[in-house]
Amino acid sequence: MLDRAQLTESVGALLGWDEQVNLPPGAAEQRARQGALLAELHHAAVADSRIGELLKELEKASGLGLVDEFRAGEAKSSRDPGSAPPATVDRAAVIRQARRDYDRATRLPAAFVGEKAAHSSRSYHAWAAAKAASDFPSYAPFIAKHLELARREAAYLGFEARPYDYFIDQNDPGMTAEVIGRLFRELAAGLVPFVRAVLDSRIKPPVRPLRGCPIDAQKKFGRLITAQIGFDYRHGRLDESLHPFCSGNGTDTRMTTKFNVDDPLDAIFSSLHETGHGLYEQGLPAGAYGTALGIHAGMGVHESQSRLWENQVGRGRPFWTFFEPRFRDAFPAQTTGLSSDALYLAINAVEPSLIRVEADEVTYNLHVILRFELEKKLFTGELAVEGLPEAWRKLAKELLGLEPANDREGVLQDVHWSGGSFGYFPSYCLGNMMAAQLWYRALEVLPGLEEDFARGDFSRLLGWLRKEVHSQGRRYGLLELVKRATGQEFSPKPLLRYLKERYGPLYL
Ligand code: ZN
Repeated sequence: MLDRAQLTESVGALLGWDEQVNLPPGAAEQRARQGALLAELHHAAVADSRIGELLKELEKASGLGLVDEFRAGEAKSSRDPGSAPPATVDRAAVIRQARRDYDRATRLPAAFVGEKAAHSSRSYHAWAAAKAASDFPSYAPFIAKHLELARREAAYLGFEARPYDYFIDQNDPGMTAEVIGRLFRELAAGLVPFVRAVLDSRIKPPVRPLRGCPIDAQKKFGRLITAQIGFDYRHGRLDESLHPFCSGNGTDTRMTTKFNVDDPLDAIFSSLHETGHGLYEQGLPAGAYGTALGIHAGMGVHESQSRLWENQVGRGRPFWTFFEPRFRDAFPAQTTGLSSDALYLAINAVEPSLIRVEADEVTYNLHVILRFELEKKLFTGELAVEGLPEAWRKLAKELLGLEPANDREGVLQDVHWSGGSFGYFPSYCLGNMMAAQLWYRALEVLPGLEEDFARGDFSRLLGWLRKEVHSQGRRYGLLELVKRATGQEFSPKPLLRYLKERYGPLYL
């Protein structure tokens, strides 16, 4: 049954990939019907009543309450990080994940699911119209209705008292708004003055210094770097789509990127980012797909893998020591007259922006913190929907030092809330923090790592990530996983250190 659930999900993902990469425009209607059928088959597999019966038996047979058993196993394994996890930890993780999936598939009434889908569709159109006209009041009632639906959904799944935590837990199992709030406060305190100093710097990155780079050459170079860092092309592909993404699993990992003739760095870094996701999928234990031991540990952990390869590795000097000559070979005319230092500054450009999706890795975290603070207050009731534009402006000024001139470049810029998607933004920032913490630990336990990179060898880093993160599946939540991999509690300090070490010498 779990195998059927996993297989129907992977077929659905493949149809989704094909839709974004290959689908001829006239086939959209048929694809929508194919997708709906797959979703139906998948739901039937996940909600199979035999799973419910088996789960009850397993939970009863475990003697202890499930949570107690899991905690006992975790405490035991924490004492000796070098040893294999005891069977109780694996069993508890598998049962807990199966229970999550089963409850989610069976506890939401069909009428509720239909109501939310219908509202999301209307709400999306209301958002698009409101954004075009920069007219927040016309959209406000749609967010309010989504919040009401969100509270009901959380209550169906047992999170009545903590609806925002329900949505955070969907993305990062076990994480809470309280923990995130504490981490983000510490991060913002260190980051806001640093961002201000970088943005005030007289040193400015070159604007689009690499124009007219043929797409074919960009594709070849993208294939070269992604294969060099370890992506297994016998079990995956890199294609082109409007918005880059990574889907599928480790047996068949589908990644995409996008190309701009006047900005080859865009494709390089989006390819490196998606390859980080792809390497994680390829490192998950294939024999355990569909159970907690064969799936990723959550969105934050997934994002840590993409960010680590994109930023700590891909924007570093050692990486470019190896790849710069190859880059110049690929684009000889376009790189003539561009110094190594100018190229490195373009790779590490920091520029102020009100728009999250255009933000660099330094300011990005502040965009996330802003959204988290507002979502949290919407759920506690401290902030009414009508007050969102004003609260957004105030916080943007406080965090980014910029004030949106209108709601289009403020509260209306993101699509997420129109689909009732809450608790999704924090994962990006948690991923950045985790990437930096893993990075410093890797440098510590793998001496000479950056010298490897300068020679084009990335295998020791990938091997270490395979062991500490990929092979663990969803055995642990983010906090425990980080503690076991790095020997330290999860903290924003490594990210602050990394940003200062990378960008300080360039701008200050
Ligand atoms: Zn990502």
